[in-house]
Amino acid sequence: MIPYGRQDISQDDIDAVVAVLRSDFLTQGPSVPAFEGAVAGYCGAAHGVAVNSATSALHLACLALGVGPGDEVWTTPITFVASANCALYCGARVDFVDIDPRTYNMSVERLAEKLEGARETGRLPKVVIPVHLCGQPCDMAGIRELSRRYGFSVIEDASHAIGGGYRGERIGNCRYSDITVFSFHPVKIVTTAEGGMVLTNDDALAGRVRLLRSHGITRDAEAMTRTPDGPWYYQQVALGFNYRMTDLQAALGVSQMRRIDGFVARRHELARRYDTLLADLPVTTPWQHPDGHSGLHLYVIRLKLREIDRTRREVFEFLRAQGVGVNVHYIPVHTQPYYAGMGFKPGDFPEAMRYYEEAISLPMFPKLTEAEQDFVIGTLRRGVAK
Ligand SMILES: *Cc1c(COP(=O)(O)O)cnc(C)c1O
Repeated sequence: MIPYGRQDISQDDIDAVVAVLRSDFLTQGPSVPAFEGAVAGYCGAAHGVAVNSATSALHLACLALGVGPGDEVWTTPITFVASANCALYCGARVDFVDIDPRTYNMSVERLAEKLEGARETGRLPKVVIPVHLCGQPCDMAGIRELSRRYGFSVIEDASHAIGGGYRGERIGNCRYSDITVFSFHPVKIVTTAEGGMVLTNDDALAGRVRLLRSHGITRDAEAMTRTPDGPWYYQQVALGFNYRMTDLQAALGVSQMRRIDGFVARRHELARRYDTLLADLPVTTPWQHPDGHSGLHLYVIRLKLREIDRTRREVFEFLRAQGVGVNVHYIPVHTQPYYAGMGFKPGDFPEAMRYYEEAISLPMFPKLTEAEQDFVIGTLRRGVAK
């Protein structure tokens, strides 16, 4: 089966992890700060705080921004559930903003309308979490302007987007947000097996995330309530978690970051081939907004079902049966039973539902060969043929 996504591990990556195994520190050693510096430096952010997943990063980002009971957090329904769950971890309520029909990202028009309505009912969000779906950046300038007007904070869920850019600068520099979050799960663009990172330009937010990453414990005398008892002394000053990344993971991340531009360039080569070779099929290929340079984590096509005799499910099952490991990103979060239980109805976000009924993610990863890609395209051609 050709998977939809797969990590790219080199001998250098393996050597980097083995070197940590032979060293003094498997965790809390020098590799984590080195990885944080590599990612923050690459993106142009002042701070990077590595954690054990993007899910943890989203949770800490919400906590650092003060999200708690009585607050609302808004995100897009077309995302992985973690983008919404982070608000629930903090005791806040979640709501969604429907997607743009061309980019499949949170629609800034729908966001503006919803904010105007929320102002009247006094239920403005504390935080909005746009997700750069497939790696394509959201309309961040538009979202930033609304955040100033309505007074909410912005967390970019850039789990798909490391290595991409927006208006000529790198995703992750937080020019239009308070915090950006990356995921380093193996299917994503850069991997640490499991891992995530919080990026921010705000010193206080970075300090808060660092504190909460490790139990709310500080060894910094400045942050303590009294003078230390001695060199062994630490204080717990908040209720934090163990969300730390290991040095094994961070060393893999440092080694992977050396190849990030190559990873993204290869994804763009493959996307260009798909765009060209799928042009005569009854499918919509991804539209790229000129403001963005996608990280291209995913390559999602939409089936033009009126021109195809099969259902989406039949096309999907045909591809899988032929050895093409397609997937669907994502089942709209508001239709998950856990969220439906909060009162969300499928029809609440119609553009998201239309997208969901037609979407299929084709294989997209740097090591995908052109022969494999041709097989994917040929199989899809048979799958949608009259
Ligand atoms: C993968 C993903 C996450 C969660 O990442 P983990 O590192 O697996 O916790 C969150 N949001 C989006 C959009 C993702 O794709």
